[in-house]
Amino acid sequence: MASGAVLWFGDVMSAVPLRNNKAAASAVRSVTVLGATGSIGDSTMDLLRGARDRYRVEALTANSNVEALAKLAREFGARFAAIADPTKLSALKDALAGTRTECGAGESAIIEAAARPADWVMAAVSGAAGLKPALAAVDRGASVALANKECLVCAGDFFMERAAKAGACILPADSEHNALFQALASGDRAELVRVIITASGGPFRTWAPADIEQATLEQALKHPNWSMGQKITIDSASMMNKGLEVIEASYLFALTPDEIDVLVHPQSIIHGMVEFSDRSVMAQLGAPDMRIPIAHCLGWPDRIVGPSARLDLAKIGQLTFEAPDFARFPGLRLAYEALRTGKGATTVYNAANEVAVAAFIAGKIKFGAIARLVEATMNDWIRTGNRAPLVSADDAISVDHVARNKAAALLPQIALKAT
Ligand code: NAD
Ligand code: MG
Repeated sequence: MASGAVLWFGDVMSAVPLRNNKAAASAVRSVTVLGATGSIGDSTMDLLRGARDRYRVEALTANSNVEALAKLAREFGARFAAIADPTKLSALKDALAGTRTECGAGESAIIEAAARPADWVMAAVSGAAGLKPALAAVDRGASVALANKECLVCAGDFFMERAAKAGACILPADSEHNALFQALASGDRAELVRVIITASGGPFRTWAPADIEQATLEQALKHPNWSMGQKITIDSASMMNKGLEVIEASYLFALTPDEIDVLVHPQSIIHGMVEFSDRSVMAQLGAPDMRIPIAHCLGWPDRIVGPSARLDLAKIGQLTFEAPDFARFPGLRLAYEALRTGKGATTVYNAANEVAVAAFIAGKIKFGAIARLVEATMNDWIRTGNRAPLVSADDAISVDHVARNKAAALLPQIALKAT
């Protein structure tokens, strides 16, 4: 495991190792993948498959797909497999009969998977459900590749500080944040002017507001560049994903909202940029393939040989850019508002969005109502909520629950409201 990774970033203790203080990597590293059956999990397992001699799998987890989890556990000889659905323990045991893989079920088993001694953990559960498992890995000082942005958005007030105190090393796996992670190494905090995270603009980038309002699930799931899980694909269409990423960048790198800009870049080749005081702008480029940022996290502090396609800019021909449209994509505006409000507001933003996306998938609200529900929940919380800083997982989960209940209560009136 990399040592000495805890650094001070400006006057804020950071667990993101912004300077590459290389430590000798042990010959075989043990790894755990939380959310192994998802889209990020799949990319991670693909990278591990290509380097079997360098990595040993400690634990794998999934929500409810026993078959897919057992298949991976068998293939990689995992020591532990955990399924979140508590009713599926015996099915998992049956599927892994004759192997040495121990089995567990329920939320506590997912946390146990994260707490088991692995050098490197991929946190790729979807949604705030990933918070407690990610913290279990952080608390034992592991290297944690963080894909699960919702858990950071939900617990941003204390997540990074707790990671720094535990000596954990947070490796940003989200492509934009991984780009910033790489570009930030070119200068110091005092020299930084701003960071820029790019956005493809999603499938509705050029759509009129009335069409966005009525967009169907099928249309929202057609991302132009990236192949991802359902929740994040819908978040990309609403640009809530970019909003979550603005908040994620703020917490990861201790940046103010004014230091984070979003730039629409439909080709998704430049993932993030950092502007320094001399006006140099450092960018990270790559094909839209999550195996690239994940490989960077997996190999860190070294670089491994990645399986992704090489970038051919001559073939791509043109890289174009546009300013984001905060009016057609209010989810992005709300993220900045939540960040400026602080003290739990980003937790509310995330929780309300999770409720809204689930309601949209279930056909209960229109696409345009996603942002309206988030805004109504945030406004209600700002008016009535207990706005104290969150200092523990229980604090974050309690604000998350209050916001979910409020969003669910507001849902019928938002669903009915004409636009
Ligand atoms: P996904 O839906 O494809 O996979 C989610 C994984 O988490 C699955 O293994 C699922 O079984 C598990 N899971 C879901 N709910 C759970 C629960 N309650 N308890 C335990 N396990 C549970 O999602 P994904 O696209 O792989 O995204 C995972 C995370 O990574 C999200 O936070 C997303 O925002 C982030 N991310 C994804 C991408 C991408 O390209 N897919 C890119 C950047 C960041
Ligand atoms: Mg991203």
